[in-house]
Amino acid sequence: MQIERIPVLSDNYVFLLFDEQQKIAAVVDPAVAKPILQRLQALELDLVAIFNTHHHSDHVGGNRQLLRHFPNICVYGGVKDQGRIPEQQVFLQEGDTVEFAGRKAQVFFVPGHTRAHIAYYFPPATSGETGELFCGDTLFAGGCGRLFEGTPSQMVNSLNKIRALPDNTRVWCAHEYTLNNLKFALTVEAGNNILQTRYQEVKEKRDHNIATVPSMLGVEKQTNPFLRWDAPSLQAFTNQKDPARVFGKLRGMKDLF
Ligand SMILES: [Zn+2]
Repeated sequence: MQIERIPVLSDNYVFLLFDEQQKIAAVVDPAVAKPILQRLQALELDLVAIFNTHHHSDHVGGNRQLLRHFPNICVYGGVKDQGRIPEQQVFLQEGDTVEFAGRKAQVFFVPGHTRAHIAYYFPPATSGETGELFCGDTLFAGGCGRLFEGTPSQMVNSLNKIRALPDNTRVWCAHEYTLNNLKFALTVEAGNNILQTRYQEVKEKRDHNIATVPSMLGVEKQTNPFLRWDAPSLQAFTNQKDPARVFGKLRGMKDLF
């Protein structure tokens, strides 16, 4: 399975999964249809599935048009998004699996950004390879999604499921927010050397308009404050111990950053 990142709108990424031998593709969170259709045509691929993570329009906006071009595709989303994702056909919940090109992805229920958000995780095909996580707007490189329909404690539970995955997992998040996220991270954990180094690397990349997605989950665990509610430095900074309170305080500060 190959994965291609397609930048759309101002800062969204749509992900095209494909198998060149079978000539089939699946798309994660198609915000719009046109650039996806162009890529499918260029690569001569047949679209077989849409994997949606949540109902926001910059994640599902291309569903209808893609379905018009490929009437037999299957449209997946979370069970609690019923009625909110255009043309949704399959209603997924925690523990379900979906298949594409001989690979199986596990579905995680990760409410917080929205009440129905799900993530798709493809474990490594063979040991030594990366796992692939499509987490929508739940976890970002260096940050996390805003809590539009959930509480800090729900989001901590959701991020805890992601944090339990192997370090060698690529995080395919849906926006290029990394530089600003790391700027914020440095304000709350200035003494984190790994974070300082990451910030410089990301700044260099963005200066040259290079994408910073996917990131590696192992790096997120070391540098993303929203996965670090039990780090002594962040507990001291927020003057809290309880994970949801540490997280909630940081998320509140980020909302105003
Ligand atoms: Zn969203």
